[in-house]
Amino acid sequence: MATALIIACEPQKEQTFCFDEMTYSPSETVFKLFAPADADCRVVVGDDTLQMTQMADTIWTATAKGDQKGKTYEFVVNGQASPGVFAKAVTVNGQKGVVIDLKDTDPEGWENDSICRQIVDGQFTDRQFSDWVVYEMHHRDFSIARPDAEHPGKYLALTEPWAIDHLTTLGINAVHILPSYDYGSVDETRLNEPQYNWGYDPVNYNVPEGGYSTDPYKPEVRIREFKQMVQALHKAGIAVILDVVYNHTYNIDNSNFQRTYPDYYYRKTADGYYSNGSGCGNETASDKPMMRKFMIESVKYWVNEYHIDGFRFDLMGIHDIITMNAIRSALDEINPNIFIYGEGWSAGGCAIPNELLGMKANIPQMPRIAAFSDDMRDALRGPFSDDTKPGWLGMKVTKATDEGQAELAALKESIKAGIAGMIEHPQVDYAKVNYSDKPYALEPTQMMAYVSCHDDMCLVDRLKASIPALNAKPKVSQLIALDLLAQTAVFTSQGVPFMLSGEELLRDKKGVHNSYESPDSINQLNWQNKETYAQVFDYYKNLIALRKAHPAFHLGKAELVRQHLEFIDVDDNRVVAFRLKDHAGGDEWQDIIVILNSNPEAATIAIPEGQYSVVCIDGKIDAAGLGEVNGDKVQVSPQSALIIHN
Ligand code: CA
Repeated sequence: MATALIIACEPQKEQTFCFDEMTYSPSETVFKLFAPADADCRVVVGDDTLQMTQMADTIWTATAKGDQKGKTYEFVVNGQASPGVFAKAVTVNGQKGVVIDLKDTDPEGWENDSICRQIVDGQFTDRQFSDWVVYEMHHRDFSIARPDAEHPGKYLALTEPWAIDHLTTLGINAVHILPSYDYGSVDETRLNEPQYNWGYDPVNYNVPEGGYSTDPYKPEVRIREFKQMVQALHKAGIAVILDVVYNHTYNIDNSNFQRTYPDYYYRKTADGYYSNGSGCGNETASDKPMMRKFMIESVKYWVNEYHIDGFRFDLMGIHDIITMNAIRSALDEINPNIFIYGEGWSAGGCAIPNELLGMKANIPQMPRIAAFSDDMRDALRGPFSDDTKPGWLGMKVTKATDEGQAELAALKESIKAGIAGMIEHPQVDYAKVNYSDKPYALEPTQMMAYVSCHDDMCLVDRLKASIPALNAKPKVSQLIALDLLAQTAVFTSQGVPFMLSGEELLRDKKGVHNSYESPDSINQLNWQNKETYAQVFDYYKNLIALRKAHPAFHLGKAELVRQHLEFIDVDDNRVVAFRLKDHAGGDEWQDIIVILNSNPEAATIAIPEGQYSVVCIDGKIDAAGLGEVNGDKVQVSPQSALIIHN
């Protein structure tokens, strides 16, 4: 009922306006703006003020004759100045728009750059959702402390050979870059001083952030350098995913939304207060036609102009289902392989009912859109709400009769659900799964499998916080063992694997739970660790290679998962064991057995009798083989994974 209402009240006139606020040609520049019908609307171009006239009730326009290239502009609506909501080039700190001819910003060879492809066996090939291996990174974390970086902390760092070499050797095939649109919390006029922020405070949604460019004063530089970054990654077969934060603005009064069309873009409660589903003081109103249209035009623009391959929607649970599906359709028209995933939750109550929102539980109504599985994440490492509470990896349960066994059994079931890609599976009892009482994914590619991300503790810190014994120096081998075990669950999941940058270097953030504005000393990757903990990097690398080389680990379709993934019944809640049987997905291996053992002791597990090659054992992976096992039983070392095949 409510859904129908939302569709019915879309005004038709506005729908023709595509937020083309500035259209440049050498002979004239046309300005347009969505603003209230009774407003006084002007645009100030360079030193000239032009009165805008109405094309339709709420669409205003003005034309500046002659070549305006390079001039700044500001819209002034009832005295409130802003660059509009869809500036494509801006001055330092994003304060004014700039007339730009985007063709001037294309790096050499840009016309040959293409999206949604990857390198397989040395050849470019189309990318399927099941192929993605996502690496979530912050520009500054990644390169600021890299000794040989030419452009530490900048877009261009990702064009440098050391960076490309690291990413391709690790084997990930997509970088998810934390907010890289123009945000407000880093002052672009003081870049010589150390400043850090994740950037979840959008200012101009459709311009790259100036702080990651080599010169934020020159509007074309950030645009060109962003494209150079995309181009270099694409040449290496690596997709680029943009973290998009349409769900809120830093505040209301100073936002470009509010300064062009007061109160249009935000939701209010029934009492007339601004609703705060984001926890940041406001929430945007994707259910309103022009906010929906803004989001659609914005993602299309990033794809068409910057060749972005995928989007991660921050607090997707604030956006309505209709909008998310409309975005999916709009991107499908460009390339159906563009990947969309998001946080299937909000950070507070929203002004429209949860049933209409992009929540994880509503993923079945959003085909080909994925959501993060906090179920699997928290089952492995412990709940979001308490850093000191261990999950399946570290929970202490002393006796078989211990009441903790029921809790442990539930954690095990949540991990099984995660291994299956959160789809319906005859051997997964969703009544026991921690946050989802039924499967939320129609297809396994609707689940993001992960154990850590930029939010809350990274894996090392989390393991140390929840398992105090690991803080003792001699325990580093145990810390590593649990780290590798956790990621083995992630990378053998039928969901889409996702990892936080630096986990492969045994990164820590000195125990900081929320490092959104922490200094470099907390957030930067320590590249020395690549040598110090070479075992960790090698394991991650080989684990990713194993997944990519074997279709059995990423079947892509729920039917295939139900057909080929069989959990092995083990009467031990500290052990998750499964078989990918009968050449799953056309795999060259007949049956693959994966056993994850979080016991501090070795476990002996019954398996179908046979002769197996070992490819993962005791914290080492080698697809070429690490020995043989024969018979109907196998021993798995404490806190480790075993992978064998026949
Ligand atoms: Ca900025």
